[in-house]
Amino acid sequence: MAVVKAFGKSSEDAKKREMERLAALEQLDLLDTPRDDGFDRIVRLIKQIFTVDIGLVTLIDAHRQWYKACSGLSNEEVPREDTFCRYVVDYEEAMVVQDATKDQRFAQHPAVTGENHVRFYAGVPLNTKDGHVVGTVCAIDRTPRSFSAKDLGILQELAGAAMDRIELMQSAATDSLTDALTRRAFKQEADQLISLALRHQHNLSCIVLDIDHFKSVNDTHGHAAGDQVLRTVAATCRANLRAGDIFGRLGGEEFCVVLPHIDREGALAAAEKIRAAIASKPVRGDYGALNVTASFGIASLSIVSKDIETLIAQADAAMYHAKNRGRNQCIAWNAIRTDHATGARRRVLKAGSIVFNDRRSTIDCTIKSLGEDSAGLSVSNSAGIPAEFMLAIKGEGFETMCRVIAQDRQNIEVAFRV
Ligand code: GH3
Ligand code: MG
Ligand code: MG
Repeated sequence: MAVVKAFGKSSEDAKKREMERLAALEQLDLLDTPRDDGFDRIVRLIKQIFTVDIGLVTLIDAHRQWYKACSGLSNEEVPREDTFCRYVVDYEEAMVVQDATKDQRFAQHPAVTGENHVRFYAGVPLNTKDGHVVGTVCAIDRTPRSFSAKDLGILQELAGAAMDRIELMQSAATDSLTDALTRRAFKQEADQLISLALRHQHNLSCIVLDIDHFKSVNDTHGHAAGDQVLRTVAATCRANLRAGDIFGRLGGEEFCVVLPHIDREGALAAAEKIRAAIASKPVRGDYGALNVTASFGIASLSIVSKDIETLIAQADAAMYHAKNRGRNQCIAWNAIRTDHATGARRRVLKAGSIVFNDRRSTIDCTIKSLGEDSAGLSVSNSAGIPAEFMLAIKGEGFETMCRVIAQDRQNIEVAFRV
């Protein structure tokens, strides 16, 4: 039984298991990737088969639950500690709650007492081949109901189908909406270009771009308009690139380019050309003409950045600076190096804590990139986090004082204080 299993595990074992789980999740590289019809179909099936209001396919990182597909709820992610699904991840097994008002774990939960009015919950683990629970597949309803062993079996089959789809997607080379390379395919091709550049000692640069205020396009004009903007921005990027460049979609509205033979100055110029092209070309549809802009970060191959993970992490950090400085602009990583962090960064996925207020306040975060003297963090909400705090990496005994150098709603760039 779940409870026995959980108490049987020492907290050291649990920490180790969680670190391995996060490593498995990182390997899939699926967090914040674009919407996908295959997963949307699975959540529609959940709603139809069980006649419930809400169907979810989710991934759970260190601090949040992120919906890969969702029907019936408006959120895209929620803090991990607020979820029903965290029990499925912690105990590594299915959980059924017939009536949340009668369950002391959930009776006072805001999703139950508030406007979501959740009553029934059934969640099963999304298991990798190696047995790590990277997320959940759930059926949720606003009225209490029962769920038979047969129902649970069907939900488990659907979770199996979701995992099969995840594995299939690992081999997909292009994104169906924008025709850009998928994140995984992009990185593979980028690694080959980087090997060549290192062997022949030629330059190479990387540009990350993220559409500005894209959420408000979706919110104001609908998802179809958002999709149209994505297609147009992708086409504008492609029209301004050379045949040897590679172009990928890293996430929802974040794209990346690798430019072989191009140094930092050249990449800044290329980014500036794309920036101007996007800004000068309104996207037209039934909704009228939408002015679209994007923010750009640039990073180039150097002694401290010799792989695509590092280049993306550095370009990403530079891009957040561009957002911070008012968006619709291009900034290169070097420009940050001189006044802040100096070393290389790697993309990681680690559980962290932001500690402040004389250790009285702690906020969970996910550490997404890490270097000798800086890090990139993501949180559910950056409001209320002070300009300086202690960052701890869970399970590693690592603690350091940090200074915030850039932030937006959910991302924080920090330099370690020496
Ligand atoms: P910022 O200027 O700081 O980048 O703000 P933003 O609104 O662009 O960024 P945020 O990350 O808050 O919102 C990104 C939105 O992109 C949220 C999500 O709904 C939307 N999105 C992600 N993938 C897709 C997609 O494939 N199609 C559509 N239409 N929207 C998507
Ligand atoms: Mg954006
Ligand atoms: Mg974004």
